[in-house]
Amino acid sequence: ADPLTKDNINKALKTAFDKYKGLQEGKNADYIPALAKVDSSIYGIALITTDGKVYTVGDIKSEVSIQSISKVFTLAMVMDQSGTRAIFDNMGVDATGQVFNSIVAIEQYQGAEMNPLVNAGAITTTSLVDGKTYDEIWGKIEKKYNEFAGRDLKVLDDVYQSEAETNQRNRAIAWLMSAYGHIKTDPLRATDIYTRQCSVGVNAKDLAMMAATLANAGKNPVTGKQVTKAENVPEVLAVMATAGLYDDAGKWLYKTGLPAKSGVGGGLIAVSPGKFGIAVISPPLDVAGNSVRAQNAIADISNALGGNPYDVS
Ligand code: GLN
Repeated sequence: ADPLTKDNINKALKTAFDKYKGLQEGKNADYIPALAKVDSSIYGIALITTDGKVYTVGDIKSEVSIQSISKVFTLAMVMDQSGTRAIFDNMGVDATGQVFNSIVAIEQYQGAEMNPLVNAGAITTTSLVDGKTYDEIWGKIEKKYNEFAGRDLKVLDDVYQSEAETNQRNRAIAWLMSAYGHIKTDPLRATDIYTRQCSVGVNAKDLAMMAATLANAGKNPVTGKQVTKAENVPEVLAVMATAGLYDDAGKWLYKTGLPAKSGVGGGLIAVSPGKFGIAVISPPLDVAGNSVRAQNAIADISNALGGNPYDVS
């Protein structure tokens, strides 16, 4: 029997929501000052199937900054624009085994063995978006995110300002990627556009819609728009599987089999190809920078619904 029935999905969502509601582990990111002030109790779950049905539980109104989850959608955009080879050849697609803003990982192979989901690779990916001016590039990114989410998203200005004032480390990363020839445009402009893309506000439903679009071969299952090329989605998902939860990506894949991506704002998305996209928002993070409740809830829900693509039993 197909486990993806309305009753099964609602039950899986509610069970996981209740089970982890009291879980108090982890804490908000605070290296970006604005993130420390976000309400830690925000907790919402959304699952959207590839036939466009939306299931939610908890807080799906509150917005947090998308942060590193944005890396996935800029990646898809650059693949559409320049082909999957452009990413492979520039920064690589391997896990670094280091934290997301590692300098050591850049130095080891002069920036050639990164991936688009850690900061060095992500800022480089943003630098690859075609456009003459800052506004032209930003406009393309914004439009693409809106199409993935199926509504117009907005930058959370306090988060943007706060990170822009404190992102010296990312600027250093961008200069290194420039020094090694990976970033060929102004590295500070690329860093600033990257910082802006990380500050886009999303709720749990927005994130689930973005994930469901990937689950549905790049076509938003609710608006029906083909947002990104279907042929590139397998590569996007492969990088998510490899590096979506940074140095804990292996542990995550072992538990769920799902391509996923976390952000330090507290969001986590996961994709069950052909079946559903799921997202949870809960700001407290573990030491690797991944939301504690979100990891637990998504693993339980997906496993209850047969979401693991490696499990055909
Ligand atoms: N904007 C954040 C940074 O660059 C994103 C990090 C994250 O979500 N892991 O540090």
